[in-house]
Amino acid sequence: MSRHYCLWVDGKWCQPQNYEVLHAPFSGEQLGFIGQATPVEAASAIEAAHRAFQEYKHMSSFRRSAILAKAADLLSRQRERVETLISLETAKPLRAARAEVSRTIETYRFAAEAAKSITGEQVAMDAAENGEGYIGFTIREPIGVITAITPFNFPLNLVAHKVAPALAAGNTIVLKPAEQAPLSALLLGELFQEAGLPDGVLNIITGKGAELGEVLTTHPWVKKISFTGSHAVGELVQRQAGLRRTTLELGSNATLIVDEGTSLDDIIDRCVSGAFGNNGQVCISLQRVLVHASLFDEFTDKLARSASQLLLGSPLEESTDVSSLISSQAAHRVAAWVNEAVVGGAVIVTGGRLREDIGHNIYAPTVLINAPCSSKVWSEEIFGPVVVLKPYEHLEEAIELVNESRYGLMAGIYTNNLQNAIVAARQLQVGGVAINDIPTFRVDQMPYGGVKDSGKGTEGIKYAIEEMTNLKLIVLKGT
Ligand code: NAD
Repeated sequence: MSRHYCLWVDGKWCQPQNYEVLHAPFSGEQLGFIGQATPVEAASAIEAAHRAFQEYKHMSSFRRSAILAKAADLLSRQRERVETLISLETAKPLRAARAEVSRTIETYRFAAEAAKSITGEQVAMDAAENGEGYIGFTIREPIGVITAITPFNFPLNLVAHKVAPALAAGNTIVLKPAEQAPLSALLLGELFQEAGLPDGVLNIITGKGAELGEVLTTHPWVKKISFTGSHAVGELVQRQAGLRRTTLELGSNATLIVDEGTSLDDIIDRCVSGAFGNNGQVCISLQRVLVHASLFDEFTDKLARSASQLLLGSPLEESTDVSSLISSQAAHRVAAWVNEAVVGGAVIVTGGRLREDIGHNIYAPTVLINAPCSSKVWSEEIFGPVVVLKPYEHLEEAIELVNESRYGLMAGIYTNNLQNAIVAARQLQVGGVAINDIPTFRVDQMPYGGVKDSGKGTEGIKYAIEEMTNLKLIVLKGT
């Protein structure tokens, strides 16, 4: 019989009243019964976190750092088990699951380092006439209980992007992982306990976002909500949160510009990995490529050929490149959006169909051309293995097309022209620009966050710590 997964509250497993069965997206097999917290149980977790904060806020950074470093070591020791779990719960091909676990270990190690260098600064008080004779400096203090709400697509590393800086900074947490992929996150309770984290500092509750969202965003002890997920839910979270601090890491339709004169030899593999890696379910998946007209046909042929050679199959097979989308609903939505584009004049160069002959919820890697700018595949976030190509004549036109998007997370440009690289870097309205790489680029210490409908606030350990601490000024009146 499948295991029942309880809630992790105040350093122990707590039995909820209700469970729901979790199925693997690829095989449909039953992975376990997941506890469905009620709002009252979520409130108990918040209260446990609040009680734990009274002690944890005084723990030295030396000790917080040691706990994070030990947690990274413990994760590293059980990495194979965790990789398999991620692969099963999300249908992420095993190679990608390995990369995720490596990044997560690194994220906790960055946090262990960062915990030791949370500092303020001296303020030049006497630079103002009224400040003469004063000494001023700032310190950073933890803010209290943080709720972390995370999506399914990187169920371990996106959790780490919230848990790691929160713990490094001396805060306590209630984590609500995605309902579709909670298993790897649930490992963290016991793991951090073994690493020496006091009970109640990290609490993990599973269940439906729609039912738990209100208490997680409005409970009086909650001082900050760190949310990663869709724009629709992020907007709701922001509305409910009122004046509380929020970080919202939302979606995008990331674009790459391929400039005139670029050699395509090296970039096709990167584009394939950006568009189809993690089955196209990455917030910065390469969804749109604007290719200089002189290269458009060659780029289209090469990309389509490579996409059609990807191996579709079980996420647990070593050779699999692309596997299932997270749910049947997601796969059918992707199919419907592609069909809508085709009705509007788009042409499918490769893919363009469900492959349920191979496994549940598989959609073939798809390359589209001629999609109208009004189509969803162009203007919304598709979150599936679909990439849309468009030719352009002048760089200004390409930049304008990128900037017309409601989203702005990452963008990329391949160019041999330094001037064009600088123009793109300065003019693209996004949170980050990759020059001579795809926009699907992230290392875990870099500042990462979107503009426009891609969200607000910045992650990356050092930057998240800033958003998870209060900057307090201390003024000393001298003589
Ligand atoms: P989602 O918005 O459906 O769910 C995210 C989380 O929000 C889940 O834990 C869910 O249970 C919870 N939730 C749902 N309704 C809620 C409510 N009413 N109140 C509070 N919480 C609620 O997103 P998803 O489908 O899991 O993930 C895909 C989305 O996440 C994509 O849009 C993707 O771009 C985005 N994403 C962004 C980043 C980033 O760093 N910018 C990273 C990964 C994913």
